[in-house]
Formats: sequence, C-alpha cells, structure tokens
Amino acid sequence: MTDMCRLRISRDHFKILMGHLFPGDGDEHGAVLLAGTSTVDGRLTLHVREVHLAEEGTDYVEGKIGYRALSPQFIHRMITRARDEKLAYLAVHNHGSDRCVGFSGIDLDSHERGYPALLQISRGVPVGALVLGRRSMQADVWLPGGIRLGLDRAIVVGKTIQRLTPEPQHSSSGVINMFDRQIKMFGKEGQQALAESRVAILGLGGIGSLVAEYLARLGVGHFYLVDDDKVEDSNLSRIVGAEMADVRNEVAKIEIAERLIKHANPDAETILIRDDFAKESVVARLTGVDYLFLAADSMRARLVFNALVHQYLVPGVQLGSKIRSEASGALVDVMSANRPVRPSHGCLWCNQLIDTNILAKEAKTDDERKEQAYGTEEANPSVISLNAVAASHAVNDFLLDYLDLRPEPDVLYYEHFHFLTGKRTLVEPRRDDDCPECSHQGLRYGRGDLVELPCIEG
Ligand SMILES: [Zn+2]
Ligand SMILES: [Zn+2]
Repeated sequence: MTDMCRLRISRDHFKILMGHLFPGDGDEHGAVLLAGTSTVDGRLTLHVREVHLAEEGTDYVEGKIGYRALSPQFIHRMITRARDEKLAYLAVHNHGSDRCVGFSGIDLDSHERGYPALLQISRGVPVGALVLGRRSMQADVWLPGGIRLGLDRAIVVGKTIQRLTPEPQHSSSGVINMFDRQIKMFGKEGQQALAESRVAILGLGGIGSLVAEYLARLGVGHFYLVDDDKVEDSNLSRIVGAEMADVRNEVAKIEIAERLIKHANPDAETILIRDDFAKESVVARLTGVDYLFLAADSMRARLVFNALVHQYLVPGVQLGSKIRSEASGALVDVMSANRPVRPSHGCLWCNQLIDTNILAKEAKTDDERKEQAYGTEEANPSVISLNAVAASHAVNDFLLDYLDLRPEPDVLYYEHFHFLTGKRTLVEPRRDDDCPECSHQGLRYGRGDLVELPCIEG
C-alpha cells in the first residue's frame, strides 16, 4: 500500500458516523459510506455523499472468522446502491485507539477474501474499507487492475476543518524564524499545515491582491491564482504591489500577485491561470485545492464556486464590498461582506446571492448586450480600506477554521460590515432542504467528478 488517496466528509456526516461508532460502550460498530470520486494530478479523492449506519444485530453481526462484520444482506444492499449511483463503497468499523489506527491482520484477510468479488459487482467503482480511531483514520481502497490505496488524510469540512491521518504527522524541524511570532500562537504543526495547504484565489483585483499578501505572509505554501485581466491605471489605488510601470507593460494581475507572494515568502509555489475561473478547463484544475477565496464579482463565478464547494466538499469564502449611492450622489450604504460557504450550512443559491437575471445577462456576448440596449456597465466604486476589511476577516477565518482553532467549531455566519452606521451584522445562512445545489439529496452534494459543474465551455 504505497499509493494514497484522500477522503472528504462534511462535519454533519462525520458527527453522525462518530456518534454511531463511539457511543461510549467501548465496542466495535459498523457503517457504510458511499462517496463520489475525483482525480486531480493522478490522485484519487473520495467525497462522502451518503452515510448508512449498520444496525447492531441485523446489519452488524457476529463474524464467522473475525469478531463482528457487516451482514451479507447489508453489504449486498449497499454495493448494489453504490453501483447504481456510481458511488464508491466504503465499509467502516472502529478500533478503540486514539491517534493511531490501522487494519488488523483479520481485517486485511477479510478484504482479500471479499473485495475482488465486490469490485466486480461495483462495475469499476472503487470499493474498500475505512477503520477509525477516535482521532485517526486509515483506508484500504481497491481499484480495478489490482491497485490498492492507503489514506493520505481525511478532511472533515464544517465551519472548521479537521484533518485525520493514520498516525500523528510530525512537522519537519526546519520551520523558519520568519514565522516565529505566529508559531507562538498556533504551533509548528499549524505552520506546517499552512505550508502544505493549497489555496485558490479567484480574482486578483483589489480584494484578491490583499488576500494573496496576507496568505503569503502567513506561510501558505501553494497558490492557484486565477484571473484573466491585466492591471490598468484605475486599479493602482487598490491592487497591492501594482506599479505604474505594470500598467505601461500591461502586466497581468496574477503576475503582480505572484510577485507579491514571492517577496513575502520565496518558498511559496504559485500556479498562474490567466483565464476565466468559470471555464470548464480552469475549474478542472481546482477541484483538489484545500480552500477557495472567491474575490471575483461575476454571478457565473459565484454559481461555479458554490457548486465546487458542495460537489467536492471544499471549504470556501465569498467576499466583496459594495458602495451604493442615490442619484444625487449621497451615500446610502458602504459595506463589506465576508461569507463563508461550507457543506451542510446552506449556500449562495438558497440565500438568494445568485441573481439569475444578472446570470442571464452575463451569458450574452458583448455584442448581444449592446444590441439589446443593456449598454456598457459603468464601473462600480471601490476603495482599498473597505476591501481590506473583507480580506482580513476572510483570512482570519481561514486561519482559525483551517487550523481548527475555534472553541465552538460549528457556528457559521455571514458577516456584513456597514461602515456608514458602524454596524456589523451576523446573518445565519438559510439552509433550504430542497436546494438542488447544496442539499444532501440534491444534484451535486459529494458527487465529485460524477456530475458536471455549471461551467462555461472552454
Ligand atoms: Zn478491525
Ligand atoms: Zn443551497
């Protein structure tokens, strides 16, 4: 078992699973997870869509060889469903251990007896097993062609993000002095987690450039920078690191962000994608990232981002600022928004933050828009200090959530700052149980590469 896969599961589902496996009786219990799959850069990720708890005595029974096992009827029901839904089949049980866990010899023998046959029934969909300790997880996943994968890590995605591995990860000793002050806050393990994290910044305008600066100085190791625009003189008041010469040389916004990141942390890796985030070919490169910052303001970008979060169980945040004034020029509202988006916490769609009229308008080409007298849009007002509030709160959340540092992990609010009145409002997102974009039974939830994202072609 040298090759590795990853597993993503929402905190909702994980809580249900852990409650069943560890009810406090010190015994072993079982379940089956059905999961969508995705492959990026050759690595398989499993995205848990369904949790089926095995009932004691009927679904989880005395084993012929091992201690206890899933009943043949339960396995049959589950593998048939996995095949029909094209979801990976994962049989789960627990051991009594804490931070280290692995399969027993009896466990592995039973996999070798059972999984070749299950793999035939599943028609190419992966099958396998997970074993859980209280704070650890291991996998034995079988693919067609005799390939078996262990677990690199499982990622539990709620408001906060928890990582589980087969055994504790030791941080590499060479953590650098430049991070000394923040290591005092969250330790070398936290710094290591940031160095390993892969973060996508979608839109490198005013807000995105600040996010890039903050994340680079925190020590985030890998950046996907997505923007198709070049810097213009009207951007100089807001894009951190942009200079007059960049305007003359028609430098791309992603290149300015890269320069900024490298100045802050030369070890950071930057992947530049000068293209529209909503394109199929662009999104396909982002399904394996650990966190998404949406700092682009098109409705299509919101729609695709929203789908990405729920389909692949990747945490994200949508951020922006807005200035509204009357015809006379008097200011009505000056605000910034920081909206974390997570599986099981509602979405931009069920919170009416995706405007279908604007979406339709965006779908038209420039020529069509002129023809239908939409005219050319006047640029929105924008100010760096408003952007900085949204960016810094979103990066604070990333830090506290990604490193799992909050005392109450599951409280999630949209944060709205109204600067004219000095009010900060916290809005608990609506969670529509019938939402096609985010509900557990909906089109996308946890399905990974199985369904298409609402992308534009190209
Ligand atoms: Zn076992
Ligand atoms: Zn929704």
